[in-house]
Amino acid sequence: MSVPTLPPSSHQPRPYTGPSASEVLRLREEYVSPSIFTYYREPLMLVEGCGQYVWDEKGQRYLDGFGGIVTISVGHSHPAVTEAARCQLEQLQHTSTIYLHPNLSRYAEMLAERMPGDLKVCYFVNSGSEANDLAVLMARAYTGNFDMIALRNAYHGGNAVGLSLTGQRTWKFNVPHSFGVHHAMMPDPYHGLWGRDDPLAGCKYAADVKELIERATSGQVAGYIAESIQGAGGVVVYPDGYLEAVYAHVRSAGGLCIADEVQTGFGRTGTHYWGFENQGVVPDIVTMAKGIGNGAPLAAVVTRREIAETLASRIHFNTFGGNPVVCAQGMAVLEAIDRERLRENAQRIGGHLLRRLEDLQARHDIIGDVRGAGLMIGVELVTDRQSKEPATARCASVLEQCRQLGLLIGKSGMYGNVLRITPPLCVTEADADFLADALDVALLRS
Ligand code: PMP
Repeated sequence: MSVPTLPPSSHQPRPYTGPSASEVLRLREEYVSPSIFTYYREPLMLVEGCGQYVWDEKGQRYLDGFGGIVTISVGHSHPAVTEAARCQLEQLQHTSTIYLHPNLSRYAEMLAERMPGDLKVCYFVNSGSEANDLAVLMARAYTGNFDMIALRNAYHGGNAVGLSLTGQRTWKFNVPHSFGVHHAMMPDPYHGLWGRDDPLAGCKYAADVKELIERATSGQVAGYIAESIQGAGGVVVYPDGYLEAVYAHVRSAGGLCIADEVQTGFGRTGTHYWGFENQGVVPDIVTMAKGIGNGAPLAAVVTRREIAETLASRIHFNTFGGNPVVCAQGMAVLEAIDRERLRENAQRIGGHLLRRLEDLQARHDIIGDVRGAGLMIGVELVTDRQSKEPATARCASVLEQCRQLGLLIGKSGMYGNVLRITPPLCVTEADADFLADALDVALLRS
């Protein structure tokens, strides 16, 4: 099979004059926490980006099929986002929210305009973990209840509350952080009890949440949190009707429903601005990060006024939250998503890519499942389609082969056997074809 070539790019990367990758790695190993990890046998150093492409220090170009872990929404170094940040940095970088600044107010209005129902009050923080921490605090403060329901196989962050909600042993430390958090069945149509052929699967998985509330809690809960599609858990798309049924159970137990849109927000799933809209629900609290700032340390919690007001009963403050620079970037991101019709692009290119990947599934036995929505796609590799045994080593090898071909993609799932494809939303059909062709070759070579 011929080796696919990257679609052309007119961007000329600057000559790189910094330290070598091996020197950078040496310094990192000596001075940076060993908890941060790299992909690839020989770690890749990236020094420039433009749109959907990134360059290493030797000038080699790659299609960024992972988007900085689902974070580059409108494209690397997007000119409007860069310009917004540059202008604001030159004028005023930071004052804190104790003073008025137009960016915070204008950005909150723009974000609220894109939310359904009464979700109109925004609170800005710096990361997805912080957003989830705050959402849980709000749910507990508002309801007066303590117990939270989360999902097995979820990922909600690396801080104490994020880890308590997370449902994968690979991320959880053995410390008592999960007190009051109960994990319901993962509504996974590929691995779970009820599959895509069962029209009642959504209700059946939702019944487990009801059962959990009745048997593991006082019957009254603070809330329920779920990613709209599980990301780090391996791109798990819930059966239709699942969230609708769950939300009814949670609300009748006095709880609030929280949607973690850290990965699925900002048009990534194509059909809608928010992933939860694919399930026809309106949450009580929405948390967002990653794609919101196209790489800026920006995250948000959006909720109804009466829920937001509970936080005003104490002093609550976040030093960098709503900083003028990140708000300027956030506004530029929203404008770019709308102006460049990136949601529609995610829908169209994502659909095309999904079909191309399903074709690969028909030819490569190792592909057990292809799933996703818009430009959030997972390809699960299994050693055997009956037992669905995770093909973890092969997955790592496929990633290496893709890199050799100029394609960067991610992996996810508790066993690291789900290829994760989440490029910037500006990818083209030619990029999608390159991605599928490169993956085809990588599967043959691995
Ligand atoms: N929620 C989800 C769904 C995520 O994927 C992540 C990050 N991978 C987080 C929360 C935590 O975000 P952050 O790393 O910005 O704290």
